[in-house]
Amino acid sequence: MPSMLVVGSVAFDTLHFATESHPRVLGGSAVYAAIAGAHFAPVQLVGVVGRDFPDSAIHLLRSRNVDLGGLEVVDGETFHWEGRYSDDLSSRQTIRTDLNVFADFRPKIPDAYRDTPYVMLGNIDPTLQLEVLEQIRAPKLVIADTMNLWIDIKNDALRELVRRIDLLILNDEEAMQLTGHKNLIKAARNLQDMGPDTVIIKKGEHGALLFEGADVFAVPALPLEAVADPTGAGDTFAGALLGYVAKQDSVDGATLRRAVVYGSTLASYCVEGVSTHRLVTVDTAALQTRFEQFRKLTTF
Ligand code: AMP
Repeated sequence: MPSMLVVGSVAFDTLHFATESHPRVLGGSAVYAAIAGAHFAPVQLVGVVGRDFPDSAIHLLRSRNVDLGGLEVVDGETFHWEGRYSDDLSSRQTIRTDLNVFADFRPKIPDAYRDTPYVMLGNIDPTLQLEVLEQIRAPKLVIADTMNLWIDIKNDALRELVRRIDLLILNDEEAMQLTGHKNLIKAARNLQDMGPDTVIIKKGEHGALLFEGADVFAVPALPLEAVADPTGAGDTFAGALLGYVAKQDSVDGATLRRAVVYGSTLASYCVEGVSTHRLVTVDTAALQTRFEQFRKLTTF
């Protein structure tokens, strides 16, 4: 089966909620995406951690079918992000970002990974995402995720990246910020004009829109009774989406639609637990059950 490559952050996250805090739990865009993608296809992870990164996290990733041949362990401390969520979990504020070993990170794609057909450029500095692109050969699909920080401070590099990828994933506010369009259809069409054939606009608890060529597909988020921690939902969505595409070894419209539903399925599990705690409990049966729930929810 074709594999997928994920490049992104590997992190400790300190999370604050209305009534509790979770210091230094496992996080990072590459971690969420890799665990989600590995439900479908073999995953190769490229990133960096410090000497403080625990063996337990390494074992966890390895046990999930994630190849860590591209994970550098260097002197220094692992990237640390700290955020506080609003009481209803609908928004969050970054309290601090300690880049630590990430500050000098230059992604090196091992030779054995350079022919990997499916590539996810997780949310990191777009200059680094471009460096990854330079190192891979003839991929079938490159997807990239980004965030408001890079739209603000690395706009030119981000636009260059967008020109060169196949699928861009971003949230509604970022799409508006990058294009200047308040209307999401106009924003998506504008983004497609910048380069990628396919654009996915995430709307958090309101689901996601897939724009593929002239086609538009909408998927809701699964209505959940209890959300514990929304961190990583976007990365989980993207990783699962790409894993499913890799498994099918196809990028046609019907596959992409199902991939978006699988992305939403894994994201719904991700938010039910703190850090990756719930995500790692999902098995094939659970995945299928919730995939069918999505079908029921949207069939009429
Ligand atoms: P998400 O909730 O999908 O936006 O992703 C959350 C993850 O992004 C957290 O686990 C953080 O460790 C990671 N993260 C936060 N800020 C950055 C950043 N500036 N660069 C890379 N990763 C980040």
